[in-house]
Amino acid sequence: MQLLEDRIRKDGIVKEGNVLKVDSFLNHQMDIHLYNEMGKEFKRLFADRPINKILTIEASGIGIACIAAQYFDAPVVFAKKSQSINLDGDVYSTMITSFTHKREYQVIVSKKYLSPDDHVLIIDDFLANGCALQGLIEIVQEAGATIEGIGIAVEKGFQEGGKLIRGMGMNLHSLAIVDSMDAATGEITFRQE
Ligand code: 5GP
Repeated sequence: MQLLEDRIRKDGIVKEGNVLKVDSFLNHQMDIHLYNEMGKEFKRLFADRPINKILTIEASGIGIACIAAQYFDAPVVFAKKSQSINLDGDVYSTMITSFTHKREYQVIVSKKYLSPDDHVLIIDDFLANGCALQGLIEIVQEAGATIEGIGIAVEKGFQEGGKLIRGMGMNLHSLAIVDSMDAATGEITFRQE
């Protein structure tokens, strides 16, 4: 998606350790005009799918999912990061290793909000090694719901996540795929999907 690529080139900051900071328009301050165009693009990409629910993960996925949800006329459920080790039987849960924070945490979704009748679009801000997505996929599968697609804002194509998730047969679309980025020069190149 040209608009997103242009914005990443203009305002994205490449950090050491393969981290792309996009705080000025995506991860801290949110550009709602850009979010709206991203929502439209997700709708175009997944228009042929009978999506009735959007699943994302807190915190950065929520804003993107909510704006996109208006185009699907579907509710958004977000997986919550949970501290509790003693979970009751009312939740689906999985462990996720955070790429940016380098630690493991548990995420949960209430069984009330995901069921075998659901046709789910998973949305998240970044795809790096694919750990967050694998966790969300596990939760949908545990619920017996159908994954209709996965929409990602920024995929770092030089990391393993995209290959892994596409290798699982998932209908994955990323709005911008970063092919390479250089912390020294700040140069970012994109792949066309
Ligand atoms: P994964 O589980 O695919 O390794 O990482 C995905 C999650 O890590 C995303 O939900 C996102 O919050 C975070 N993340 C991974 N790489 C980056 C990055 O380069 N920049 C930012 N801002 N977040 C990232």
